Amino acid sequence: MKIFVTGGAGYIGSHVIKELGREGHDLLVFDNLSTGHEWAVLYGKLITGDLSDKLLLNEVMKEFRPEAVIHFAASIQVEESVREPMLYYKNNINNTLNLLEAMRAAEVKNFLYSSSAAVYGIPVKVPVDETVELRPINPYGTTKEVGESILRDMSVAHDFHYIALRYFNVAGADVQGRIGQAYSKPTHLITRALKCAKGEAKKLSIYGTDYPTTDGTCVRDYIHIDDIASAHVQALAYLMDTGESDVMNCGYGHGFSVRDVVSAVKKVTAINFPVEEAERRAGDPPVIVADSGKLKAKTGWEPRHNDLEFIIRTAWEWELNSVRKIKVLSSKARTVIRNGH
Ligand code: UDP
Repeated sequence: MKIFVTGGAGYIGSHVIKELGREGHDLLVFDNLSTGHEWAVLYGKLITGDLSDKLLLNEVMKEFRPEAVIHFAASIQVEESVREPMLYYKNNINNTLNLLEAMRAAEVKNFLYSSSAAVYGIPVKVPVDETVELRPINPYGTTKEVGESILRDMSVAHDFHYIALRYFNVAGADVQGRIGQAYSKPTHLITRALKCAKGEAKKLSIYGTDYPTTDGTCVRDYIHIDDIASAHVQALAYLMDTGESDVMNCGYGHGFSVRDVVSAVKKVTAINFPVEEAERRAGDPPVIVADSGKLKAKTGWEPRHNDLEFIIRTAWEWELNSVRKIKVLSSKARTVIRNGH
């Protein structure tokens, strides 16, 4: 199947690309490489372009005429969204509208959307399922909620079908060790803790120790990147089979506190890096854990790496080997089309 993938050079996008590529799909990645990397795109063609460039976007969409679009490209940091809300509304809403318009113009009807647990805010029940009212508590979450609303309205008005996957805390690296997370300024807990273990950061700050949780630190549902990737493959197959639009949580249903994660990172790496207790970070909900029953029941998805230490181990192996692996990947010839030309 021909699939157009925005943000396919990013962390989650590149892991989904490797699964879709392995299945033999014809992939076109559209990415501005602001946080993604050319080397991370293991399959398909890569066009470097920005979703604000409507001319290029429309041209590429019309020429490729995909059967489905997967939309990963977005700004994703909660704390940054509190400081720079306009950036989030521009990147996550305006650009999504540009993409949906280009799809309409090219008569592309199927859409997989990266949503987030951030749409729930502080959920009234944990694990949270998709019936719970959305009350985002930061601009990032609001942009994802608005994104979902646009899709819902479009699916009512037009011959348009979508699945929005609400990601919980995605972590880890490709089980085969080929790719992994490579942000210049990582903000995620597991990556930061591993940077401390590696000696690239001096100490890990625990943001907030007075939350209403068992040990006072925030609780999250960490899910392995390859399980997120398989969820996309299953969700897309379901969408193409049934044409039924839906919203589905994507997590394991277990919560770990920041302190649990720090202990697990120390255990896996066998390195006792310094940790300090710090102020709360803006926009963080205390507890967020997924009920992913709908995703399992409807698409047949089953997680294969539901193990925090395994998640950390794959990320650690990537951290230790990434420089060498990136060098090898970068030296390989690949089809990159700069700005569509
Ligand atoms: N966190 C922390 N120190 C860090 C990074 C994150 O204490 O250096 C906390 C953060 O405040 C949150 C949890 O770890 O409670 C998970 O944060 P992350 O950024 O990994 O994901 P988020 O839940 O924001 O998507």
